[in-house]
Amino acid sequence: MTAATSARTEPGEIDRLTADGVTMRFGGIVACNNVSLAVPPRSIVGLIGPNGAGKSTLFSVLSGLRRPTNGHVHMGGDDVTKSSPQARVRRGLGRTFQHPELFTELSVREHLVIADRVRHGTRRVWTDIVTWRGFRPGSAEEDQRVDTLMDSLDLTRVAHSPVGALPLGMMRLVELGRALAAEPSVLLLDEPSSGLDTQETADVVEVLRRVVAERGVSMLLVEHDVALVMGLCDYIYVLDFGALIAAGTPDEVRNDPAVRAAYLGTDTEELEEAIDRSSADLDEETV
Ligand code: ADP
Ligand code: MG
Repeated sequence: MTAATSARTEPGEIDRLTADGVTMRFGGIVACNNVSLAVPPRSIVGLIGPNGAGKSTLFSVLSGLRRPTNGHVHMGGDDVTKSSPQARVRRGLGRTFQHPELFTELSVREHLVIADRVRHGTRRVWTDIVTWRGFRPGSAEEDQRVDTLMDSLDLTRVAHSPVGALPLGMMRLVELGRALAAEPSVLLLDEPSSGLDTQETADVVEVLRRVVAERGVSMLLVEHDVALVMGLCDYIYVLDFGALIAAGTPDEVRNDPAVRAAYLGTDTEELEEAIDRSSADLDEETV
């Protein structure tokens, strides 16, 4: 396969994030082998592949935690290969973690207020946030931004609950909200459905769709749940042994023999089942 650039980038638009010929070696292991991918504006892009395919490594190269052996990373057309993770955050790269670190005793709203003040407040964020009486009251604009965000995330009804008392699905949404409060142009999501039950997964998917529509943010997600990726993403890249073996729309990837063959080796039953489930989901949606 040749270098894959998403077909969905409109003429005149610049991709929010690209990997351009990224190779990452660890000693003799080639974790990523000449991988190119693109995240266009306002799109949800998926990255799938079996264990050890190189997904996490590519994520750390994109977020700046690792410097690639070869190749480049661009944000909005600018080369950020040598920029630190913090510099990339300031340029609009957000990310969530598979195991979010939240403050269990702070409420949902307080988490989002802190994230909002990091984005909009002064440099002395912590002293600015907390006084001896607790949280400093925010401005009307801050209240408005935080309330709007809680609304898009479906968290308004638990605004004042301590995060530690919430089910994992909602914690995931708080984590997402915290990333969104920084107003990123592109968000890296690491396994947003991991550990969630079917209903919680469906809730997260609905929120992700809404957030892209309302905020115009782009997303790149690594996800084990093939059905979720097929149902949610506009474009999907498939990695195997460090190399891209396929890229395309869910329909294209679904029918790609290389994906069917390589994804789960000889045991394709699980993939087939997931693909069938995702087709059924799509059919339901179009009814
Ligand atoms: P995935 O996230 O798709 O499961 P990874 O990116 O974690 O895959 O790993 C890709 C390959 O790189 C694997 O063979 C893994 O063992 C290897 N690898 C990842 N990180 C390191 C590291 N820090 N040192 C050595 N090998 C690594
Ligand atoms: Mg991984």
